[in-house]
Order: sequence, then structure tokens, then C-alpha cells
Amino acid sequence: MASSSELNRLTIAEASDRLRRREISAVELTRACLDRIAAVDSRLNAFITVTEKEALEQARAADHRLSSGQAPALCGIPLGIKDIYCTSGVRTTCASKILETFVPPFDATTIAKLRAEGAVFVGKTNMDEFAMGSSTENSAFGPTMNPHDLTRVAGGSSGGSAAAVAADECLASLGTDTGGSIREPASFCGVVGIKPTYSRVSRYGVIAYASSLDQVGPFAKTVRDAAILLRALAGADPRDSTCSARPVPDYERALTAEVKGLRIGVPREYFVEGMQPEVESSVRAALKQYESMGAKTVEISLPHSSYAIACYYIVATAEASANLARYDGVRYGLRAAAEDNIELNEKTREQGFGAEVKRRIMLGTFALSAGYYDAYYLKAMKVRTLIRRDFEQAFQKCDVIVTPVAPTTAFRLGEKMSDPLTMYLSDIFTISVNLAGLPGLAMPCGYDGNNLPIGMQIIGPQFSEDAILRAGDAFERSGAVTLRRPAL
Ligand code: GLN
Repeated sequence: MASSSELNRLTIAEASDRLRRREISAVELTRACLDRIAAVDSRLNAFITVTEKEALEQARAADHRLSSGQAPALCGIPLGIKDIYCTSGVRTTCASKILETFVPPFDATTIAKLRAEGAVFVGKTNMDEFAMGSSTENSAFGPTMNPHDLTRVAGGSSGGSAAAVAADECLASLGTDTGGSIREPASFCGVVGIKPTYSRVSRYGVIAYASSLDQVGPFAKTVRDAAILLRALAGADPRDSTCSARPVPDYERALTAEVKGLRIGVPREYFVEGMQPEVESSVRAALKQYESMGAKTVEISLPHSSYAIACYYIVATAEASANLARYDGVRYGLRAAAEDNIELNEKTREQGFGAEVKRRIMLGTFALSAGYYDAYYLKAMKVRTLIRRDFEQAFQKCDVIVTPVAPTTAFRLGEKMSDPLTMYLSDIFTISVNLAGLPGLAMPCGYDGNNLPIGMQIIGPQFSEDAILRAGDAFERSGAVTLRRPAL
């Protein structure tokens, strides 16, 4: 049995069980996470804000509910929340100076749902400013360090949420994924992350980056925990008109470990020259493992893959330039001293936004400007359709697709900061999934020679979260990979 100082290492499934049997209390569990944060977060910088007082209050309320014997699955479970989710009464910065003092008066729908289940929020996690980046180095609050190697990045943009789970600062966490921001940091930190189908989970109250691509989802220590959390998050929301009304399956019950006859597509475009050889060999070994469990692998092609990054950086920046127009110095957060409205607007944005955010606003504004719209945005939308069709055709030959999450394991802090294009390439295997609106699961499948986690991605057709979670859980339960806890 874990000693009380190790309660923070439990999975949601284990903790929930022990909470219900009243072997442990939600207050003890929350304390263990808060103590862990106090012990290691000065080295990791996974949290922007730690909400100790609120967390202990929530934990006490959860204990009350638990003692009544009728508590939902997440009652008393300590979670980290990416600082892009509006949390009522708790500062929400999006890791930007422009929102440094913004305290939302309301909860995002997902936060309200978790609150209603009795979950405990230990704090708001670090990220790239406005979710723009792949390393969490574009944060106005300093970078997050990778728990497996403090000289390396945690990935991004949800780097804090991934690092916090890997370092056992919380049992699970929430992130967002526009082009890879859940899957890439999950891969770099050796945890599980799922980007659901576009529209599966409400985005109401989640600060918008690129609205046709953004989707929210969980980070967890196991595939089962990700399934439990996703079930609580998913479902219709009258406040988000894009949110699907499709019924939400019981994802945990879908975890039958059965993969016999499963057809796994292996896209030839995703095993490219220049990728780290250990990443390729580790994903290929996972495919062999699936074959030994009765699955079949089939080679497939996603011929328009090479256009994905270019297409994404038109669509995402165009949408970002529109979404970020609201930070005008009048309505939220920072307000620069100025003589008139125009100066107020200019100075606030000049002082409040970081370099990468400014770069994206300029790119996006250009792509949408009169005379260029057809050449850039319209063309990108057409390419996006071709990318979506590639997947539709592939799914006639296979049930799921397995790929690496990223071409390399976690890179060194500072290594890619001077060259935005190399940074953009970290998302080469994740971005198409957002353009096509599909669900994608990231999970550990091995380690490289430096002891750094390697991530495997399982992609499915729209609304096939149950199938990709089942495939991931089967691999996890096969015991093919022994997870390594970071030595902090
Ligand atoms: N790295 C990609 C970008 O910078 C994706 C980020 C994300 O998914 N939010 O846009």
C-alpha cells in the first residue's frame, strides 16, 4: 500500500476506489499533491498559480460527499488545469502578460462539469502563450522543465499539464490541442493524452486560439484514467454551438483489451528520413506487439501529409488574428497608459503580447487581407479538405492508424527558439489530425538512449474515442513497456 506521502502517485482508478472505501480522505490525497508541488515545482515550473486554499476547501467538501456513500467517479480527485480554461474567481492568464491580472467571473463548461463531480483543482498549469508553441518556452511565466531531464523542454503548448502529471503533482490534468498541444507534451513527458474528435467536448470558456481546430482533452497516467476523465468532459453544451449532441459512450467499459482482428494502418509518409531512429524502432516494436496480440498491420498512404504544416499555419494564424482582436486594453487584463483609444490599443498589444503571438497575428492578418484571401486562406481550406479525404480513404482499409507522436524525443531548452520553422516541425505528425477533426491518443511506447520517453499516436475516425482508447489500453496492459518515474 502506498504510504501517505505517496498518495499523489495513485491513478484516478486506484484513488477513487480507496476514497470510496474511506481508506484515504480527499484532504490527505490533496495534501500529498500540494506537498509534492511544494517540493518539486520550483525546479519544474509546471504551475503558474497554485490554488492551495481552494483545493483544500474542495477536498473537504468531497470528503463530505464521499462519506454519504454516493459520490461520482471524480469526487476528491486532484487535477491540474491548463491556464487557458476560465476558472471562476481564479486568475486565468493564458501565460500572457496581457491577461496577467484577468480573473474570470465564470467557469468553462468543462470546469463546471468537473466541479459538479466533486473534483479538486490544485492549480493552473503553465503553457505557451495563447497555446502557440511546442515547448512551453513561449510563456510569460518562464518555461516548464521536463521532469525526466531538467535541461529539456516538456513539450507544448500544454507542457505544464503534462509535466505536472509526469511528476505526480496531480493525478491527471486538462490541456488543449490545436495542432498537437496535448499529444506532443504527453509524448515528451511519458504520460497519456487524448485529443478528442473536434466538437466532442465543449470549448465554452476555453480561451480561443484557432476555433476550427481547438479541442480540449485530458492528460493522465494511464489510458483507463484518460477514459474516465474524458467521459466526464464530453457531451453536448448549449453554450457551444459546435459541440456535438451525440451520446457519450462509457469509455471505461470499452476497455476490453481485445485487439484480435483490429486492422492497424501504418502510413508510409509518417516514417520519414531525419526522424530519430529510436522513435521509429520503438513504434515499430509496438506494432509487432499488436501483431502478436492478434491485430493486423496494413500499409496505408496519406498522400497530402507534406502540405499539413503549411496549411495549418495559414488556417491557425488567420483564426488567431481574429480571435486575438478582442485584447484591446479595454475589456480584459492589461491596460497601457495612453492619450486616446488607438494609442491604448496599440500600446496594450505591443506591451502585452509576446514575440510568437505577434508573429502569428501578423501572419494571419496578412493571409486574410484583401487580395490575398483567395491565394492563402481559401487555398488552405481546399488543402484541408484533401487532407481530411486522405484519412477517409485510409479508414476504408484500417480501423485505427498508428504513428509516432513527434519525430524526436524532448529537445533541449533553447534549442529551437531562434528558428520558428524547426519548432513548427515538431508537430508534423499531429497537425493533420486537427485539420481532419479526428481523435488522437498519445501514449508512451518506449525510451531512448537518454532515458527520455517516446510516444506513440493512435488515430481513429471521427467519434471513435472508444476504439483508440481500447487499442491503447490493450497495449498498456500487455506490459510491453515498463514506465519509468522521473527521478526528481
Ligand atoms: N505547436 C502548434 C502551434 O504552435 C500547436 C499548438 C497547439 O496545439 N495549441 O500552433
